[in-house]
Amino acid sequence: GYKEHVNPGYLFSRKTVDMNKELAFVEWKDARNSFIDIDGNEYIDCIGGRGIYNVGHRHPKVLQTVMNQLQKQAMHTHDLLDPYRAILAKTLAEITPGDLKYVFFTNSGGEAVESAIKLARKATNRHTFISTTAGYHGVSLGSLAATGKAFYRKPFLPFAQNFRHALFGDVDMLYKLLKSLEIVGEEAAGVIIEPIQGNAGVRMPPDNYLQEVRQLCDEFGALLILDEVQTGMGRTGKMFYAEHENVTPDILCLAKALGGGIMPMGAIVASEKVYESFMEEPYRHEHTFGGNTLACVAAIATIHVLIEERLPERAAVIGEYMLKELRAIAARYPKLVQEIRGKGLFIGVEFFDSVVGFEVSKGLFDNKILVEGTVGDVKTFRIEPPLTIEQEQVDRVIQTFDLVLSQVQR
Ligand code: PMP
Repeated sequence: GYKEHVNPGYLFSRKTVDMNKELAFVEWKDARNSFIDIDGNEYIDCIGGRGIYNVGHRHPKVLQTVMNQLQKQAMHTHDLLDPYRAILAKTLAEITPGDLKYVFFTNSGGEAVESAIKLARKATNRHTFISTTAGYHGVSLGSLAATGKAFYRKPFLPFAQNFRHALFGDVDMLYKLLKSLEIVGEEAAGVIIEPIQGNAGVRMPPDNYLQEVRQLCDEFGALLILDEVQTGMGRTGKMFYAEHENVTPDILCLAKALGGGIMPMGAIVASEKVYESFMEEPYRHEHTFGGNTLACVAAIATIHVLIEERLPERAAVIGEYMLKELRAIAARYPKLVQEIRGKGLFIGVEFFDSVVGFEVSKGLFDNKILVEGTVGDVKTFRIEPPLTIEQEQVDRVIQTFDLVLSQVQR
């Protein structure tokens, strides 16, 4: 069914073949929350580059910082300390929860998860993991083993890395898995979860889920690895989702918006106790480009902007408003819309029927609003705009949602 219901965003990006036109396509207007296609049409971006534009497109501060640095020194060598890598690590240590303070830099989210898996193995001397069904963690063989969706996994089975999958949100099942692994002498090294399952269709955790998972991890000596690649950097109304539940993971995975939508960048942040095992031989695990100078300055500038412009708080306020308004509209179409859920500016709109879901996202597209379909859940599309989205744009999205629903009603 996915092929028939391909997200209009894909159609849009495949429209151009001519390289000059391709370049025209990426010449975004000044706007921080929208972009212009080759015909000059302006689209409100509710995809946010799949969660990378938390500070908006081409935020002038991030852009200028990167451009200034590019003229001075773009890359470092791992054999000398790059001051920006140190500054960024310190900044991350300051803004992440609890005692998280050792940082390892990667180039992507999948690499961050991969690093977390290796670090957890080394720190615990265990090698079995538990993740969740329908969860998404990346395409590399370790992060793919953690991923919980047949669509991504099946062609590449079996994996060397051993993962069991508990139903997302099911604490009893997680307990049973941890217990059964203990009985057979394969105690879990770690439990890896997305606080909100993004790719699976913005699936919300039950109340206190992270706290209960934290407790279980402590009980069984497994590390809690939180994949905040998508929920991090202010998206859900706090800098990190973990703060909503006052939970400190052992390893936090970051990427996507960390580089400000300008540089590819990922990281894991771990506690000293957990990271110790990586410090014995620091050259055993590293990426040539991980923590390169340009990515670091982009991330430093991005964090400054998130804090200065109070973007996590903004995501909370605007997200709540959007949820309320969208739900009020959906209530008038009870046969079409099944559920609208989310936190901050991470919103999932689920329809009873994927054909209707596609029609609505296509209708929004025709009205110059881009939303993101989910591979994991074709009945649901994501609303994930830059956290800088203007009130007037938010209202246009809401009004257009109403208009489009009225047109598809049958
Ligand atoms: N974890 C989560 C929660 C993600 O959403 C993604 C990307 N969608 C990844 C990991 C993988 O990140 P990347 O594509 O940068 O490898």
